[in-house]
Amino acid sequence: AKYVYDFTEGNKDLKDLLGGKGANLAEMTRLGLPVPPGFTITTDACRAYLLTGSEPATLHDEVSAHLDALERRMGRRLGRGDDPLLVSVRSGAKFSMPGMMDTVLNIGLSDESVSALAAQAGDERFAWDSYRRLIQMFGRTVLGIQGDRFEERIDAARAAAGVATDVELTADQLKDLVRDFKEIVVAATGRAFPQDPREQMDLAIRAVFASWNGERAGLYRRQERIPHDLGTAVSVCAMVFGNLGPDSGTGVAFTRDPASGHQGVYGDYLPNAQGEDVVAGIRNTVPLAELERLDPASYAELLRIMEVLENHYLDLCDIEFTIERGRLWMLQTRVGKRTAAAAFRIAVQLLDQGLIDEREALRRVSGGQLAQLMFPRFTTESAPEPIATGIAASPGAAVGAAVFDSATAVARAAAGERVILVRRETNPDDLDGMIAAQGILTSRGGKTSHAAVVARGMGKTCVCGAEELTVDVAARRLTTADGTVVTEGDVISIDGSVGRVYAGEVAVVPSSVVEYFEGTAAPDSDDLVSAVHRLMTLADRERHLGVRANADTAEDAARARRFGAEGVGLCRTEHMFLGERRELVERLILAESEGERSAALDALLPLQRGDFTELFEAMDGLPVTVRLLDPPLHEFLPDLTELSVRVALDHDERDTHLLTAVRRLHEQNPMLGLRGVRLGLVVPGLFTMQVRAIAEAAARRRAAGGNPRPEIMIPLVGTVQELEIVRDEAEAVIAEVERAHDVSLSIPLGTMIELPRAALTAGQIAESADFFSFGTNDLTQTVWGFSRDDVEASFFTAYLEKGIFGVSPFETIDADGVGSLVRAAVTAGRAARPDLKLGVCGEHGGDPESVHFFHEVGLDYVSCSPFRIPVARLEAGRAAT
Ligand code: ADP
Ligand code: MG
Ligand code: MG
Repeated sequence: AKYVYDFTEGNKDLKDLLGGKGANLAEMTRLGLPVPPGFTITTDACRAYLLTGSEPATLHDEVSAHLDALERRMGRRLGRGDDPLLVSVRSGAKFSMPGMMDTVLNIGLSDESVSALAAQAGDERFAWDSYRRLIQMFGRTVLGIQGDRFEERIDAARAAAGVATDVELTADQLKDLVRDFKEIVVAATGRAFPQDPREQMDLAIRAVFASWNGERAGLYRRQERIPHDLGTAVSVCAMVFGNLGPDSGTGVAFTRDPASGHQGVYGDYLPNAQGEDVVAGIRNTVPLAELERLDPASYAELLRIMEVLENHYLDLCDIEFTIERGRLWMLQTRVGKRTAAAAFRIAVQLLDQGLIDEREALRRVSGGQLAQLMFPRFTTESAPEPIATGIAASPGAAVGAAVFDSATAVARAAAGERVILVRRETNPDDLDGMIAAQGILTSRGGKTSHAAVVARGMGKTCVCGAEELTVDVAARRLTTADGTVVTEGDVISIDGSVGRVYAGEVAVVPSSVVEYFEGTAAPDSDDLVSAVHRLMTLADRERHLGVRANADTAEDAARARRFGAEGVGLCRTEHMFLGERRELVERLILAESEGERSAALDALLPLQRGDFTELFEAMDGLPVTVRLLDPPLHEFLPDLTELSVRVALDHDERDTHLLTAVRRLHEQNPMLGLRGVRLGLVVPGLFTMQVRAIAEAAARRRAAGGNPRPEIMIPLVGTVQELEIVRDEAEAVIAEVERAHDVSLSIPLGTMIELPRAALTAGQIAESADFFSFGTNDLTQTVWGFSRDDVEASFFTAYLEKGIFGVSPFETIDADGVGSLVRAAVTAGRAARPDLKLGVCGEHGGDPESVHFFHEVGLDYVSCSPFRIPVARLEAGRAAT
């Protein structure tokens, strides 16, 4: 195998093998840009090293051959002779992991070569400064010595010399520092600092390999979902020196502003310094524009190269460069990270410049970025010192009075107050409070905690795991690390984009992008909105997937429609059984005679009909999929423990009666119990009442001149027999309503596919279904055997940390497992019934990665919460490019 590539051999498409840094150094070399010569050791070699603990047998000789070639080319030898060659040994993985792995500069310096370097450069100070940097970096990264040990000595040297920065240390002072540093090495490792240049290089290469498995690097990969088995490449690059005096320096530059996306010259420059000084922030940099004054020739050359790079990469590039005595050298480039706003602006700019086409412009932005642009935010100027920091669980900025329980949240919100729900952690009982609150703050739990997952699903701001906070729910207060107390009603502000908590009210600016979607801001109201508008238009033109909304109320449906929904893919009917209607449901459950039961149903019918009429009106002309009642009935009854206490205290007859029912309906695993179609089959009249309400609402809308398009969906079907029975009953009711109102309603009847058995027998089920809607939440629960509410709080964090999955299967569809059932059901369903309509209504419908999967398996539409609609539209468009 070939383990080493010269910079002249590689190119930008070899990132897997050469890492991003190595591949792009090769690409710049090919473009004829001034890159110091060098070579790259492949990620293959790193993986072999990490696996076996030693380098591949042939690596040493291959490195020797490339080093020889480099030495011949430079006419200098590594760390030897009058004009010693020095190199850097640099890490660089396929995906950029800034600062997470190691790099060592000035390899080749020793007690001997430092004098040669001094003589050659005519600058003793420079040579000793470079040597002390080598020992310091090598000591820290290769020998594992605490960096503070060196830093302390530098501080002491500066203090002794009475100077503020290390540039001001004299050659003699630096010599003393080198002596001290070498002592630190001996003290820490029992060995002298290695004087053999090749040994330095080999040790550094090995250390860079090993830094792939460093703690920082592992943590970063988990956060960024970078696979753990890629390994890093190692680039060996001839040194150029930015620390050779005032006509030298080092800097970073961007071809456009990575924060705003606007065109111009952005970057920082540090005269008389080596690269790591900029990153370390040891001295203050000057804006890049200053370079124009300091060194106009290099500045002009830099601008020219930036243009070459943009025209070549067709994207924003970031750059590391060094100027050695007036000569510019390129040390790194890559397609640069950018904010969400910048991504949208840049994509449209490049499109307008004719550098990329429309489909490529779409690929340059993402649904995740769009989602970020839709949250309100705090202005950077307005934010004070945070009182605590937690995990940025769900982005956005929220301000409100702190409340410590769900009921108070609901009550205060109903009174028109903005509240932040503060809990140690949340559970399903907090749902009402979470809905009522502007934002959620917890002191425990990670990114997959209940609070985080639910908040993201609702598009609600959430900071979780703010461990410095002590939340005392009983006393209705929280205490910060420094003892600040926030009691119920005190206003706090939370920033879910960065995980910060503030006391008091921080000023918020609404998202102009949301105002645009709402129709209250014109498509050309600012350059960000107009970029979003143009890319959304492109996405809508490209996409094959329809996008519908999960909406239960006319209000949600209307908003979803403004956001671009092409119908409702899931209307849950359970909310129509809550609040004041709960009592009617109780009557239904407690009914002891046929008469009592139908009285309860008769009372519910007009209420349901009213709900549907409003909903059909809001979505007039577009399909509305109504799911018949899904949750277990006991969810509508009081809590067992509370009720028992009440009965024990007051012996109320009705409560005693209720208690019997609650006991009777109690289930060990409600999720797998009496719910969905099973309810329809054993609670007489329940489903037919709902079907009647739907049909009558449709008939009324029709009479009013509307165009209602209801679709009826049966949940939790496992076998076609269940569906057939419910279907026959439903058809009879619809026919009756049609006769009574003298209309033809043609209401499609379909089913959810959310049990493995349904997916496995999809061919049979399709015979009786006009459509399928994949309920990927329940399907994920039943395929994995996970109870979502339990697993996310208990062991998902551990699973994520152990890399069992990179992301929760409730967040992004598990394409291999759950996805293969979806795929099979699509194939079998369409084979049985070519006109079968296929959609998905699980939360995955609004998740970017999942949208791509649903596009690929050929669904007709995805359905998601109203706030995610633009995200789904954009991602569906991207999936089609
Ligand atoms: P990172 O990935 O952390 O940026 P780099 O390998 O890019 O690490 O190197 C760290 C710093 O050292 C950068 O500022 C880089 O420009 C500088 N550097 C790396 N190699 C050389 C070299 N051969 N000559 C001069 N400076 C270098
Ligand atoms: Mg770098
Ligand atoms: Mg379900």
